[in-house]
Amino acid sequence: MILESHLLSHILGGLYGQALGDAWGMAAYLTPEQTWAYHNGWIDTLTAPPPDHPVHGGLQAGQVTDDTEQAMALAQTIIQTGQITVEGAAQAIVAWYEAIDGDHSPYVGPSTRAAVTALKAGQDPHLTGLRGDTNGGAMRVSPIGLIHPGDPEGAIEDAIIACTPTHFASVGVAGACAVAAAVAEAAASEATLESIITAAIHGADVGMRRGNRWLGASVSRKIEAAVQLASETHLSERERLQNLYDLIGSTLAAADAIPCAFGVLVIADGHPVYAAIYAAALSGDADTVGAIACAIAGTWQGVEVIPADHLETIRRVNPQYNFEQTADGLYEIALRNYQARPSDEDNLLGDLFTLED
Ligand SMILES: [Mg+2]
Repeated sequence: MILESHLLSHILGGLYGQALGDAWGMAAYLTPEQTWAYHNGWIDTLTAPPPDHPVHGGLQAGQVTDDTEQAMALAQTIIQTGQITVEGAAQAIVAWYEAIDGDHSPYVGPSTRAAVTALKAGQDPHLTGLRGDTNGGAMRVSPIGLIHPGDPEGAIEDAIIACTPTHFASVGVAGACAVAAAVAEAAASEATLESIITAAIHGADVGMRRGNRWLGASVSRKIEAAVQLASETHLSERERLQNLYDLIGSTLAAADAIPCAFGVLVIADGHPVYAAIYAAALSGDADTVGAIACAIAGTWQGVEVIPADHLETIRRVNPQYNFEQTADGLYEIALRNYQARPSDEDNLLGDLFTLED
């Protein structure tokens, strides 16, 4: 059963979770040892990055990066048009790139930069992402999950569209579908950590088949491996994070970062603040791992579990975004999608909701 107020709080939790994990993780260095030494242990609040950080040097505590910027750009497109299309996704990414002066920004990922260059040269957006195998499709996809509460299949279909212009290699699609399916499941009132991970693995398998056949490790099997490493509770949190870093990889690759995010989610037991702390300690592409893990966790737990001072910092440091207004817009579309959704007995998760109009 779902109450409308429940859904709105969970959509807002997903958006703030995305920003929280992104901003928390951007203060990390590239390796766990460097991060631990510089910050004297766990990063336990929103913190400025080291001034010499190769990508994030100069950002303020609480400032979001490309992960949240692109997710918000995608959300705006969805709200304005009521849907996601390949052309709309392409326009949102190009507009974001221009707005942040992407030609001179250190944090545009390799697949996105290549795709935007091709899109600006007039190439077909169905062809510009064929080799995009990094984590950029997944890092921005949470709004797609938020508009399909309790409907991972619907989220998977829209995630495939959303990553087409930039990340359409099989592993890129698999990563995006895993995250979108997990967020969609997390928004269901009866979701558990196990059902969220099951949805992610299913999404990864569908995405791997639907994307452009390309080289890369199995995203679904690496999610399973990351969850296994994260569940070794006889080891400390730091030891489990080191295992994720060494064996799964906190890198730009979709087949690394997305499985790591699920490992972090499990170590944090699905709590967005702990997911942020652990993603930052993991290091590597910590802001992306954190954005993904915390978007899922925030959707699952709702905005109420994120302390008010963190929400205030996120709002104050990122005044260009109105998270409440964006959540309201996504919520309207989520309700509409839910009502239009086919009630299929074979649906992965069954009918979890009763809407109260
Ligand atoms: Mg980033």
